Amino acid sequence: MRFSSTRAAAPPVGFSAALVQGLAPDGGLYVPQQWPQPALALLPDASKLPAVAEQFIAPFAQGDALAGEVGAITREAFNFPAPLVPLDADGRLGVLELFHGPTAAFKDFGARFLAACLTRIRQGQARPLRILVATSGDTGGAVAAAFHRQPGIEVVVLFPKGLVSPTQQQQLTCWGDNIVSLAVQGTFDDCQRLVKEAFLDPTMRAEAELSSANSINLGRLLPQAVYYAATSLSVWRRHGEKASFIIPSGNLGNSVACLWARQMGLPIGDIVLAHNANRTVTDYLESGTLRPRPSIATLASAMDVGNPSNLERMTALFPDAATLGAALSAVSISDAQIRARIRTDFAARGQVWCPHTATAAEAYEGLAPQRKASGRWVLVSTAHPAKFREIVEPLIGQRVAVPENLRRLFELPSRFSQIPATLAALRAAIGQG
Ligand SMILES: *Cc1c(COP(=O)(O)O)cnc(C)c1O
Repeated sequence: MRFSSTRAAAPPVGFSAALVQGLAPDGGLYVPQQWPQPALALLPDASKLPAVAEQFIAPFAQGDALAGEVGAITREAFNFPAPLVPLDADGRLGVLELFHGPTAAFKDFGARFLAACLTRIRQGQARPLRILVATSGDTGGAVAAAFHRQPGIEVVVLFPKGLVSPTQQQQLTCWGDNIVSLAVQGTFDDCQRLVKEAFLDPTMRAEAELSSANSINLGRLLPQAVYYAATSLSVWRRHGEKASFIIPSGNLGNSVACLWARQMGLPIGDIVLAHNANRTVTDYLESGTLRPRPSIATLASAMDVGNPSNLERMTALFPDAATLGAALSAVSISDAQIRARIRTDFAARGQVWCPHTATAAEAYEGLAPQRKASGRWVLVSTAHPAKFREIVEPLIGQRVAVPENLRRLFELPSRFSQIPATLAALRAAIGQG
């Protein structure tokens, strides 16, 4: 299998090269040249997620150096479940819990898969691989957790000092060993600028191979398609109906994965993107004109994206607003609606949502009654509410129970250095001053 750039000005590459490069040299994103159609009857049950992952991903690695390792990689990456929990008696509504990994958000799937691949690709190389991650929250924690103590790889996490919540900061700074955490005196944009400058800096490139692990990497998208495949199959096998997904969306990586799974013949019905107040996608579908804009800060901060990178992968499949709008729909949910939904669903059914998942729950409530009644709806829960306890606890008026995976992280000592937002300071902090 080869992967082409969405901008078509770079040569197609194989699986390993697409993962190592992240972004194609022409600035585009890698997409598969074909859509394998797995034999659905042969795919294992959703309870055997690593086995589903192996069969689902194997065709993409065909012909690549990693082809023989897909089984070991998927067993390593998919070592926690993605349960579909029913929310009503007849199973018309359920929640897909993607927060049972080490940092309690769906990004653990992609980060762990990418780490399992890159560690193998880099084996035996003299130069270390240094992964730079600018993060405003969830990504940095998932990437740090996935690469922690992986040989030959170092991760540098840059986050804006004072602009992430105390709970998030703990997940970015509790690692040590091969993870360097840096609180940058600046904004998230300064962190991103520093990463870009580092990539252009000959001194930094000389000592280590630089890479990024952000959500445009193909190695983070493919594993996300696996839980849509497994879930839709289990709904199909049990009820003989397609599953429709409501996905809290920001940079669109999670929703592209769902589109890809449907492209590959999985029994997926409607796809609804639940956005926060960042309306770029909803406005595009309504007006037909794409107008990227600066992001707005909301309660669902991991979705604060005004110019979603993965839209390019969607338009590679559905080139204009009309065709994309026929393939999926999108709604925008305000902070007031997020707050009200968290309160209401806690009072009505004891269900505690994180602010991101609450956008999906609210989007579901907004569906026409006929559409609700005729579908098998799955709310995609992208994070555990305990990750956002500063927001959730005042709304529900009580403490959120912290799951074991997060409790462990909360108890580790926090270690980080503070740096001004300059390349010289970054170099000094990682020992290249
Ligand atoms: C990253 C993230 C999202 C948005 O996912 P995209 O793939 O960027 O659309 C939603 N919820 C949570 C909790 C996240 O961390």
